[in-house]
Amino acid sequence: MQSSEEMIIVERLLSEKKFKMTGVRQMVIQFFLNHRGHYKPENIYQHLRKQQMSLASLYRTLDVLKQINFIREISLNNINYYELLMFSSKQLHIHFYCNQCQRVIDYHNETINELMLQQSILLEKNYHDDIQNFEIVLNGLCHRCKEG
Ligand SMILES: [Zn+2]
Ligand SMILES: [Zn+2]
Repeated sequence: MQSSEEMIIVERLLSEKKFKMTGVRQMVIQFFLNHRGHYKPENIYQHLRKQQMSLASLYRTLDVLKQINFIREISLNNINYYELLMFSSKQLHIHFYCNQCQRVIDYHNETINELMLQQSILLEKNYHDDIQNFEIVLNGLCHRCKEG
C-alpha cells in the first residue's frame, strides 16, 4: 500500500495522541480516503472483509479515528454512520436522512452554513460554552423513495 501525503498527516495526528499506525488503522484510513460517503461499521467491515480484521478491531479503530477528528460519527435512529471529516471540504453541512431506505445525503447551502456559524458564535457568547460540533439532521422521504 503506498503511503500518501494524507496518510503521513494522519500518522502524525495519531502519534500526537499517543496512538500508533497499525495495519488495520491504515486500511480503515485508506477506506475513508477512497470512499466519501456515510458508512455503517458493517458496510466498512464487508468492504475490508478479505483483509485480516475483526469487527471488534474495526470498532476500536473507528473510535480512535473519531478521537483525532479524522472521521465523524452521525447517530440516526440508534445507528452510527461514519464519514470523512478531515481532507473534506464539506466540514459544515446538513444531513438528510431518508426514513424509508435509510440513506444519508449531504445538503449544501451557503446561507444556512453562514447562519449556523453566526448563531454558534452568539450562543457561545450567551452561554459561555465552547461549541465544537454542530449537527443538523433533517429527515423524510428521499427523491428515489418518493417516486417509487
Ligand atoms: Zn429513500
Ligand atoms: Zn455528511
